[in-house]
Amino acid sequence: MNKKYEFETEAIRTQLERSQFLEHSAPLYLTSSFVFEDAEDMRASFAEEKERNIYSRYSNPNSSEFIEKVCKMEGAEDGFAFASGMAAVFSTLAALLNSGDHIISARSVFGSTHSLFTNFFPKWNISHSFFKIDELHTIEEMVTPRTKILYAETPTNPGVDVLDLEELGKIAKKHNLILIIDNCFASPYLQQPIKFGADLVIHSGTKLMDGQGRVLAGITVGSSELVDKVYRFSRITGPALSPFNAWVLSKSLETLALRVDRHCENALKLAQYLEQHQKVNWVKYPFLKSHPKFEIAKKQMKAGGCVVAFEVKGGLEEGRKFFDAIQLLSLSANLGDSRSIVTHPASTTHSKLSAEERASVGISDGSVRISVGLENINDIIQDIEQALG
Ligand SMILES: *Cc1c(COP(=O)(O)O)cnc(C)c1O
Repeated sequence: MNKKYEFETEAIRTQLERSQFLEHSAPLYLTSSFVFEDAEDMRASFAEEKERNIYSRYSNPNSSEFIEKVCKMEGAEDGFAFASGMAAVFSTLAALLNSGDHIISARSVFGSTHSLFTNFFPKWNISHSFFKIDELHTIEEMVTPRTKILYAETPTNPGVDVLDLEELGKIAKKHNLILIIDNCFASPYLQQPIKFGADLVIHSGTKLMDGQGRVLAGITVGSSELVDKVYRFSRITGPALSPFNAWVLSKSLETLALRVDRHCENALKLAQYLEQHQKVNWVKYPFLKSHPKFEIAKKQMKAGGCVVAFEVKGGLEEGRKFFDAIQLLSLSANLGDSRSIVTHPASTTHSKLSAEERASVGISDGSVRISVGLENINDIIQDIEQALG
């Protein structure tokens, strides 16, 4: 996808061709199918002799606009849009893997992705090995003749660790693996993994892309060759994004840069505030100098993102008290929303893991994850201040 303008301009000006009504803002094409001129047009369309919309499970103008924007943002050739981030993760992997294949993945990946690798892929004889985020050197020892994919997320959830994309790109290239990066925590505004050697980039559009907690969506972008495989699998199996959600998302992307700038500004201020708080054991935010991967974060990210992790002194009991005292912030499972959200991974999203497993992905009993929103930072800090008190 050729980029002509800067990021913000493309986000706003990448738009469907105007209809005969000369609308300024792209309309919603809420239609399941499209009509043909005549028998020959219909035959040629199905034979893929021409590129056009046939049925919204395959493609739809609103999805195409959304895909084109994300491709420009990520520097990708092509993409496919999905009904959710997990539909994107599953369909992308299922399209590329055969029975007997092997995936190498970071251990710290989104909970449902972890579950896909451990609970469902074994049913189809697809195996996995997990590497620790601090031990990229162990990846090469895990490669087998059937290893096809190297998979990771950065920054990670909920530990907010950072993986070196350049290093992952080199390893993938050396062993001829397909490198897939879930870039949802950073958004394409902060980080473009294709620059560092990723073959495919996946997003949950539900998070920063929509940014207002309204719709579920997912997208995979990358090389045309790989995306074509994902497309062929997905147009048959049906995980397509709805035109309405695509329309919402494409509008949301117009303000992505503005919103993410403010998310990052607020998050950094909150992280700096927490770092000097006596009731806090540690704070993790990629753009804090104290972050163990600060230099790598600086190399590959434009700013630190919207998520701050920290540990309340006193473990589970004090953690619970903190949550019960929160007034303004939402106790919710989402992130990247305009509303700040606070979660307690040990008792919610990661409660099914043993304490040992939780520790291995960087979660302690007192760990708190905050998705810093767009409210005035003084109000966000004040709520946390009174809750810690
Ligand atoms: C939320 C999330 C997903 C899944 O996206 P859904 O839209 O909820 O299906 C995948 N990866 C990461 C990193 C996420 O945060």
